[in-house]
Amino acid sequence: MILVINNKISEEQFNNIINKIKELGFKPHISRGVKKTVVGMIGEQAERYEELFESMEGVEHISEIEKPFKLASREFKEENTVIKINNIEIGSNNVVIIAGPCAVETKESIVEIAKLVKSAGAHFLRGGAYKPRTSPYSFQGLGEEGLKYLQEAKNITGLGIVTEVMSMEQIPIILNYADIVQIGARNIQNFDLLKEVGKINKPVLLKRGMATTVKELLMSAEYIMSQGNYNVILCERGIRTFEDSTRFTLDLNAIPVIKSLSHLPVIVDPSHGIGIRNHVPTMAKASVVAGADGLIIEVHTNPEKALSDGAQSLLPEQFIKLMQELRKIVNVIGRDI
Ligand code: PEP
Ligand code: MN
Repeated sequence: MILVINNKISEEQFNNIINKIKELGFKPHISRGVKKTVVGMIGEQAERYEELFESMEGVEHISEIEKPFKLASREFKEENTVIKINNIEIGSNNVVIIAGPCAVETKESIVEIAKLVKSAGAHFLRGGAYKPRTSPYSFQGLGEEGLKYLQEAKNITGLGIVTEVMSMEQIPIILNYADIVQIGARNIQNFDLLKEVGKINKPVLLKRGMATTVKELLMSAEYIMSQGNYNVILCERGIRTFEDSTRFTLDLNAIPVIKSLSHLPVIVDPSHGIGIRNHVPTMAKASVVAGADGLIIEVHTNPEKALSDGAQSLLPEQFIKLMQELRKIVNVIGRDI
């Protein structure tokens, strides 16, 4: 349930409420608004204590959150969550662009791609150092060496780093380098991993699984948020359908649906979503029109030689052109880039 508290109450009164919640064995989740503060008291049978809290000073009203995803829901927090990373806001009016190769390959190539995407207007650099490949014989990523190359590219361009963590053991090392920690589609229901990234103090980019519903995606976000990390960015990246002329089916429906159910930012990955380089720009533009707060796009200076996902990686000139087109589109829909 949620307690709606008037901000006019004293700090002592507020602390009394919070301490009571803790005393009863619940974790308070606090969301501060301008006039009211909403405190989530989530857990089994929280409603048993409704009367007790109703009588406490400063509690204006108490209501149940109907949805199973409590903290991720708009019922808990009405206004959009805006995540600020190195002066860039995700979830505000800005459309945020994350671009780079699927995997970090060499120091030279990641630096070259970082410079390119930066000059075209990207806000973050993507690149996997730990790669979840379908085949154990495919390139698995450079590991920490790859993270060091990302750091080098960051030092040169100033771009923040988005990179995937595949297992709990990798978390401490990834935290040394990443500005945003990515959870890949294949780990969307690795609940132990989700709980661990719920304890870190960096934003998490959570990719929808190829066979997860929107509700399941939001439940996975809830796992992270339930541990205290509220900075979750949701990512639509295509789902598996009977259609086999594209790599996946990019579910554009999910964008307005998630935005109505949740206050969390939603970004789209058209690269994996369609899997065909020449169609990525179209789906990228469609995603922004459908309300995406950002895009994550694979770009490579030599995609023919890429060690993973070359067929869906944009050529430099395609990315530059897409950025120019996006600038016009955001203008029409009243956003910035
Ligand atoms: C990726 O971003 O390169 C990736 C592996 O994505 P996904 O987890 O969506 O397949
Ligand atoms: Mn990829």
